[in-house]
Amino acid sequence: MTTSSDKTLSVLIKQKAYDLGLDLCGIAPSRPLLERENVLRKWCAGGMNSGMIYLEKNIEKRINPEFLVPGAKSVIVTGLNYYTNDNQEEQDVPILSRYVFGINYHDVIMKKLDLILEFIRGLEHEIEGRSFVDSEPLLEKAWAVEAGFGWQGRHSIVINNKIGSFFFIGIIILNIELDYDKPCKENGCGNCRLCIDLCPTGAINEDGTIDARKCIANLTIENRGPIPEDIIPKLGGRVYGCDRCQEVCPWNKNAKSHKTPEFELPAELKYMTTEDWLNLTREQFDRLFKNSPIERRKYEPFMRNVTIVTKAGS
Ligand code: SF4
Ligand code: SF4
Repeated sequence: MTTSSDKTLSVLIKQKAYDLGLDLCGIAPSRPLLERENVLRKWCAGGMNSGMIYLEKNIEKRINPEFLVPGAKSVIVTGLNYYTNDNQEEQDVPILSRYVFGINYHDVIMKKLDLILEFIRGLEHEIEGRSFVDSEPLLEKAWAVEAGFGWQGRHSIVINNKIGSFFFIGIIILNIELDYDKPCKENGCGNCRLCIDLCPTGAINEDGTIDARKCIANLTIENRGPIPEDIIPKLGGRVYGCDRCQEVCPWNKNAKSHKTPEFELPAELKYMTTEDWLNLTREQFDRLFKNSPIERRKYEPFMRNVTIVTKAGS
């Protein structure tokens, strides 16, 4: 049962999150997300995880926060907008997904989550809790729905009816009860299927799951092998990630630019020409993408993508 002190603490936590510049904060009761288990198993069994074996392992752990924080009672979910109208200026250059314009979002969000945890510990000394940003087996999108942020669109990404879908999800699991938000029950997609129809590779399944074997975001970031021949002409210049399904979504039509200085596009990247990209040296790569999510892709595979999309476009 939620008490008035749980309510007060929940309000203070949310206020702290907003003070730190987070755009969304909701709280869900911790529970095993059993209804997600079969969907996940079916998706992996169909090979849609594109060889990402870690997604097949420990599914029972991935659906249950108790494995990450023993005695877990509450899941605090935060959202940080990364949308920007600022973009690469030169025409027909290799395209980066917006989420890698600035420095690594893991670091930016983790700092904010740890400050929230510190704040909570200052009020409730005995708590156990941990922060997570894309780092542990955790179903972030499902928790964002549980915390009332919005629904998973047909492209599987969570859509919030105020800020759209260009936001990162960060999570804190706590062993204390709080005042909970209601899970989102609506689905604002209606009859729309723009993301399915306009995905360059047909990677979005009718059931709202993504075939990672065809998804440009996976093929240009996670995939270690060659990009399939039939996908290359469909890359559309994308060398790291793909924003297409979010760009065409009506819920992002009025998306506002983020207010996080760390996510700004550096001028050097903004004005790079195709020639600059093709001639990028290892030293330049290390300097330009230091502390960027691209840093983990490494120079050779990244340059392989640059060469492939440039040739495909010429
Ligand atoms: S990220 Fe790109 S390739 Fe992947 S589902 Fe969305 S539109 Fe399709
Ligand atoms: S493009 Fe349409 S179908 Fe796809 S997520 Fe947005 S509203 Fe839903």
